[in-house]
Amino acid sequence: MTAVTPDTFYGPSFSSLLERDPDIAGLLVSELDRQRAGLQLIASENQTSPAVLAALGSTLSNKYAEGYPDARYYGGCAEVDKVEKLAIERATSLFQADHANVQPHSGASANLAVYGAFLKPGETILAMSLDHGGHLTHGFKVSFSGKWFNAVHYGVRTDTEDIDYDQMEQLAKEHRPKMICAGGSAIPRLIDFERIRAICDEVGAIMWVDAAHFIGLVAGKVIPSPVPYADVVSFTTHKVLRGPRGGAIVCKDKHAKTIDRAVFPMMQGGPLMHCVAAKAVNFAECATPAYQAYAQQVLDNASALAAGLDELGIRPITGGTDTHLSLHDLRGVGVNGRDAEARCDAAGIVLNKNAIPFDPEKPNIASGIRVGSPSVTTQGMGVEQMQTVAQLIHRAVTETDGTSEHAVAKEIRGQITDLLVSYPAYPDPTAG
Ligand SMILES: *Cc1c(COP(=O)(O)O)cnc(C)c1O
Repeated sequence: MTAVTPDTFYGPSFSSLLERDPDIAGLLVSELDRQRAGLQLIASENQTSPAVLAALGSTLSNKYAEGYPDARYYGGCAEVDKVEKLAIERATSLFQADHANVQPHSGASANLAVYGAFLKPGETILAMSLDHGGHLTHGFKVSFSGKWFNAVHYGVRTDTEDIDYDQMEQLAKEHRPKMICAGGSAIPRLIDFERIRAICDEVGAIMWVDAAHFIGLVAGKVIPSPVPYADVVSFTTHKVLRGPRGGAIVCKDKHAKTIDRAVFPMMQGGPLMHCVAAKAVNFAECATPAYQAYAQQVLDNASALAAGLDELGIRPITGGTDTHLSLHDLRGVGVNGRDAEARCDAAGIVLNKNAIPFDPEKPNIASGIRVGSPSVTTQGMGVEQMQTVAQLIHRAVTETDGTSEHAVAKEIRGQITDLLVSYPAYPDPTAG
């Protein structure tokens, strides 16, 4: 691996860190080496730009700015007001939304605010079940959402393995939820927002889309947007979108005040202004033709990877994907998700085990894996490389034993190193 110098994307503050805290500085460098060395296929991860990293590492972190632009509880907010206004303008323009709140600290915090805005404890929400691709914050029992609210869950159909809208409608009529949530963490197909809007209207429910995973594809204009349909759309800024780790919410005008009050002061204190600045940088990046081309390539690569694995006997759930991720059933190759994840890890391939719909295994073992194309696409890989990636995954899963000394694992790591010469993560600007 090439050495990181203070002049690379860490910025001048890196030399100060190196001097004061060589332990942490060393770990930042070894994590960068890790991100550069492996094949990064975690569907919820990406590699944000040096410009975003610069904003994140800025002195905006020092500023208290409780409240909203022009209505703060602290003095000295003139500059951060401009930053937050730019972030809001860029978000509303990018998503053609009436209103944006860019303060949520994370996806889970954004979701907490959505509950706070529309529900009282004990009220009912209808959402996708976790084991069919939903998220912890959609009413799962270990989360605040399942402890404080009455959650009812829909799932996928046994035949198509895609969302069961008939079941959603039937449960909505039966339970009369205050809010219906669409979205999740392992949904490879497009979501029928029009149908969900109709169901919400039929039962008088708020329509909430948790777009954490796919909002980047919406920003890149390569899949339909939930914004025209939903009352409220929450999302993360660090997945396909490729911004800083954080959350945001866009909503209809009529909900603007309710959402803002739910984020602050109901659920959060001071906003992370360095992160708000980084979100603004990212929203501007996402409005470019280059990002739109990136989003299209993310889709093409995900489809190619899903098809490549399918050809090798690792079946994609729903038969493929319309998004940046695919979920695969490993039972055809006789390996469980836990072992597959460990074998891939030892071979330099970073992905996660995942429950598949109607999974006979416990969640900590699981019968599937989830793979995503955002990171490798940021590194410049295309459809052709996805064939190679599929073969490497298949070999790691079926021919290795989870130890890094295994001969085939070593061979795969060597092939990945060769591949990454042409598709580096964070190419060192000082190198050759
Ligand atoms: C990732 C994700 C979240 C949570 O985001 P965090 O930033 O990890 O809190 C919420 N909902 C969905 C659907 C997600 O995929």
